[in-house]
Amino acid sequence: MRTPCDLLLTHAHVLTMDDRFTTHASGAVAITGSTIVAVGEVATQYEAADTIDCHGRVVMPGLVNAHTHAAMTLLRGLADDLRLDVWLLGYMMPVERAFVRPEFVALGTKLACAEMIRSGTTCFADMYYFEDAVAEAAAGAGMRALCGQTVLKFPAPDAVSFEDSLSLAREFIGRWKHHPLIVPAVAPHAPYTCTDEILRASARLAQEFDVPLHTHLAETAFEVEQSRREHGMPVIPWVKKQRLFDARVVAAHCVHVDEGEMRDLKSAGAGVVHNPTSNLKLGSGVAPVAKMLELGVAVGIGTDGPASNNDLDMFEETRLAALLAKGVGGDPTALPARDALAMATRTGARALHLGAVTGSLEPGKRADLIVVDIDRTHNIPRFERDPAGIYSQIVYAAKSSDVMDVMCDGRWLMRDRRLLTVDEDELRAASRDVARRIDAFLIEREQSVLQKLIAIGGASEQESFEVQVKARAGSADAVRRALERDDLTVIRAAHYHQFDTYFFFDDPNQGRLRYREDEFLDEQGKVLNARARLTLTGPSREAAFGSVLLFRSRFLAPAAHSPRFYREYFKPAREREVEKDRRRWLVAFRGVQFYVHLDHMVRPHAGEHFLEVKSRTWSRRDAQDKAAIILELLELLGARPDEAIEEGYVEL
Ligand SMILES: [Zn+2]
Repeated sequence: MRTPCDLLLTHAHVLTMDDRFTTHASGAVAITGSTIVAVGEVATQYEAADTIDCHGRVVMPGLVNAHTHAAMTLLRGLADDLRLDVWLLGYMMPVERAFVRPEFVALGTKLACAEMIRSGTTCFADMYYFEDAVAEAAAGAGMRALCGQTVLKFPAPDAVSFEDSLSLAREFIGRWKHHPLIVPAVAPHAPYTCTDEILRASARLAQEFDVPLHTHLAETAFEVEQSRREHGMPVIPWVKKQRLFDARVVAAHCVHVDEGEMRDLKSAGAGVVHNPTSNLKLGSGVAPVAKMLELGVAVGIGTDGPASNNDLDMFEETRLAALLAKGVGGDPTALPARDALAMATRTGARALHLGAVTGSLEPGKRADLIVVDIDRTHNIPRFERDPAGIYSQIVYAAKSSDVMDVMCDGRWLMRDRRLLTVDEDELRAASRDVARRIDAFLIEREQSVLQKLIAIGGASEQESFEVQVKARAGSADAVRRALERDDLTVIRAAHYHQFDTYFFFDDPNQGRLRYREDEFLDEQGKVLNARARLTLTGPSREAAFGSVLLFRSRFLAPAAHSPRFYREYFKPAREREVEKDRRRWLVAFRGVQFYVHLDHMVRPHAGEHFLEVKSRTWSRRDAQDKAAIILELLELLGARPDEAIEEGYVEL
């Protein structure tokens, strides 16, 4: 008497990827509904409504892409070969702010699903905005997905504040909590894009609904350094202190973690996701995967977003993981093919806290499986001597295009390389259209330094006009003596050391950008505090009143990044560094307030003194009046205007 089942796959080389790595050279998989009911030499025990002969093919679990940002398929190839901060803050985030809407996310995710199904992935872990659109697209394509609604300290495309994004996450989780394919999650983006309060609130939310928490941890050495500086400890202990590990964490990257931190991840039951391509492409390093696995950490493999990879091919990713562990460890026995494939299946599912549902072919688990043709030219011949040889074939020689059939939750998503749940032609046309619009947006922005400056944000445009005059100072003492005159009142005095980097552009209409670091000095010349600012100066003088010039300063912002960031982002044609000791007085003279700057040059023109007198103005008439008083003041200070001295002391 045979047991009835819905579907029987027979004569397959079955890789169960279970704990014992059981394989069946000519085995069967029996499926009823969405569930695997039997695996092994069971063909004769079952009576199936439908039987498929898989002779010459491998049947194995669908691959688990344990970390990605699926909708970013639409940003694939947009900006490459850039440093992480320039790439993320200069390109990805501004474009996302302008374009990411629910329709964008839906389209991008469908495109990602098509690509993932084609390459044998049945389950993915996502983190993005408008996560409802991700969940709907994934469920529509029939894929299993852990969907993390992003929480950030910055305004995001779908939320103006973190409180908003947190309540979005709460509603999202509530809506999808009991879906058969979708596991909702909260996704605090990373410790450096979140506050400690966000980390704690996210962990509490995940606990309240008993859902995973998806985040990025210890991706770059810089992040770890910054954590040490700000919190006095590296990333993992810091987030542990914020009680992040009270939740079931899925931590992407963990590139820069020491053994103690690995043990913390293990004892917290956190899943770690290795993203070898993304980490290589962004120059972040290589995660100590072999060590983590040795310590028992559940490490899966992810492609990361297609904007940093640039594809979602888990075959490539798994092969790279296996090769990289050998290369960086100087040990060809590190991460054998079998273990790498386990990371891409069973362990990946465990890392996502979905180990009971998917990741291996075992009775009771969901029917998430793929059929792979291993009889292609690039994968023959076949040796039977070593049973582990089949893993080598899959990891080192098989290609994602060898995946013939894909099933998720008992439903076929691809048969004989034909997609059944997604319309690729439609996606192709719609994606081309989005690319055209993004291209136009960036082409326009890249033409303007001001637009680029506004794109990286943090401050609003702020225009100011000032009249100013520059001069060579006779001597510092002469200036000080003049400031003691009765008809001149010193309101404030300050002393600081200034480091300026000027960026110049080929098109003079772009103006010039100044990155300034001020160190405020006390009476003894000790540094009290420091600040960095970025100023975009207008292309040229607006007007001149004799030797007094009217200038327009177009944009002033606190400089949140390093000069290196700005250099790589703005790509100036030339730059110049100026260092000086500046005495600054705010004085009242003839009813007008002026700033008097006495600069003792350190470089260039070491030892020389320059004098600058300036005042804010708001109309041409006002500027003209002030110009006359400025010249009078300058004379009292014992100097004469010198128009050859320019901002940045360039033309000397
Ligand atoms: Zn990521």
